Amino acid sequence: MIINMSVIPGGKAGKVGKISVKLRDKVNTDDILVQVETGKGNKAIKATAPGIITKILCEEGKEILSKEAMFELEPLDNTSDNNIVESNTVNKENTKSEIKKIETELLIIGAGPGGYVAAIYAAKKGKKVIIIEKEALGGTCLNVGCIPTKALVKSSEVCHTMKNSQLFGIKTTGEIQVDMKKVISQKNEVVNKLVSGVDYLMQKNKITVIKGNASFISPNQVSVEAADKYLINAKDIIIATGSKISKINIEGIDLPFVMNSTTALASNDLPKSITIIGGGVIGMEFAFIYRNLGVDVTVVEFMDRLLTMVDKEISKEIESIAKENGIKIFTSSKVKKIQKANNNQAIITFENANGELLLISDKVLSAIGREPNLDNLNIEKANIIMNTNKKGISVDSKMRTNIPHIYAIGDVTNIIQLAHVASHGGITAVNNIIGDESEMDYSAVPNVIFTNPEISSVGLNEEDCKKMNIDFTTSKFNYRSNGKALTMNESKGFIKLIKENNTNKLVGASIIGVEASSLISTITLAISKGLTDEDIRETIFAHPTTSEIIHEAALGLSLGALHE
Ligand SMILES: Cc1cc2nc3c(=O)[nH]c(=O)nc-3n(C[C@H](O)[C@H](O)[C@H](O)COP(=O)(O)OP(=O)(O)OC[C@H]3O[C@@H](n4cnc5c(N)ncnc54)[C@H](O)[C@@H]3O)c2cc1C
Repeated sequence: MIINMSVIPGGKAGKVGKISVKLRDKVNTDDILVQVETGKGNKAIKATAPGIITKILCEEGKEILSKEAMFELEPLDNTSDNNIVESNTVNKENTKSEIKKIETELLIIGAGPGGYVAAIYAAKKGKKVIIIEKEALGGTCLNVGCIPTKALVKSSEVCHTMKNSQLFGIKTTGEIQVDMKKVISQKNEVVNKLVSGVDYLMQKNKITVIKGNASFISPNQVSVEAADKYLINAKDIIIATGSKISKINIEGIDLPFVMNSTTALASNDLPKSITIIGGGVIGMEFAFIYRNLGVDVTVVEFMDRLLTMVDKEISKEIESIAKENGIKIFTSSKVKKIQKANNNQAIITFENANGELLLISDKVLSAIGREPNLDNLNIEKANIIMNTNKKGISVDSKMRTNIPHIYAIGDVTNIIQLAHVASHGGITAVNNIIGDESEMDYSAVPNVIFTNPEISSVGLNEEDCKKMNIDFTTSKFNYRSNGKALTMNESKGFIKLIKENNTNKLVGASIIGVEASSLISTITLAISKGLTDEDIRETIFAHPTTSEIIHEAALGLSLGALHE
């Protein structure tokens, strides 16, 4: 649909003023798109229907003639692809609201990386899809998880690099200052861009998005409380409601200076000091973010080591690097209570083998983990059962719950809390819904931790192999022997490759060091395709790149590394 300039009195040209929309913006009828100066004053050109701006044909400051094309708009009709069977009006406490009864082929609850990816994939496979989201599109990952934390990681790395720029022969004059408000607004900009990108993808794939909280009425029917009330009947349903921050029962946890990952990501204040409860992935990523921004950081971890899910040697290495960077670490330590000092600082009491100890800091970050989000979902009305430890929805390898037409994916299953696992689970569920049998395989799931340096792993580690009685060989290669890493002044860390001796197939890898997040993809591909150490040895890796550490470690599994 083309939106034209209206008739300009006197037939003269007008001048295009401020254009209020961007390409791919969603607009409603009567939204102002642009102001045009004419001899008779300003004229607002408005959208004539709800839709997406697909072309902007005018330019600010340029002349425009009567009836000249200004915008191209792709009209939207959100519910056109789904069948609104009936519409009732209910009277509840004297307020009238619509009950809309809709039927669809596939209903997805939750628009995080599990739900929205499943929706796009299913739509591309020809399904009529409705997705329900009670908060923002993109879920935890885009709004308060993966993406915002990585935006903060980037700001903190810039700060770290600037502080060390002399090493590279670059001098800075004056003090390096952190503008935390700008750090957060930069993060918000990235988040908003990605969330509106998901919105655009929903429109593009003709997926109906309903904003509101979904609850099961029965195994086939879900109600949604929004501005209108919806009753949706679906042939197949995917639950992708994700996870929420776990509550911990510590005295003082609700004091105002105690943050969680979500509130920390929104805080414009950079504390001088912080105590982080929990040395897991979220806790350690924040520890390095804050430390690189100049904060005095202490981590208190209940277990005997940091990042218990990674290879023990890597855990030790990151602890030693953290300490070298000035992060104070207490492992095997339990936080007992948090109190407010007279000067409004936090007093944290914790206990370990040395008895009861106190810490004082401006802020506290509770990073003790996340649990499946089943709030208001009423899964019992659909007779869906939980897994044995009751900590997630029980699913089989096809992501199917005990109810054959209901699937569950991502964090709500509590199998592996990672965005890419949620997305892959979504694709697996859709494949099974459309009759292309497929199963989740967790043997090659990459896991990345954005500390400084980064950590990544895939497949098995040494401890796993021992527990599984696998006959294995490991090979380690250090970053200090890699030319590219040295040019980057990033000589810390190593790669560890593991092969199964019977087959010579690679079964696992762990990396700590620069670019570990990208390097792990090569090994993930190798493991998932059953490649051997010889396959890697015979592959040519570009020089000088950090990827050469993979080649060297593969050589180390038989002949021996060439550069060590
Ligand atoms: C600080 C932090 C950093 C992280 N960093 C990474 C990382 O670097 N890499 C990585 O892979 N993972 C990371 N994660 C984990 C990642 O965010 C999750 O694994 C991922 O978001 C799970 O996706 P999901 O689709 O299962 O659920 P979610 O992303 O949680 O989405 C679920 C959605 O469902 C909606 N919902 C819930 N209940 C209802 C209902 N009843 N009706 C309607 N809507 C509902 C929620 O509002 C939410 O939008 C991080 C998490 C956190 C907290």
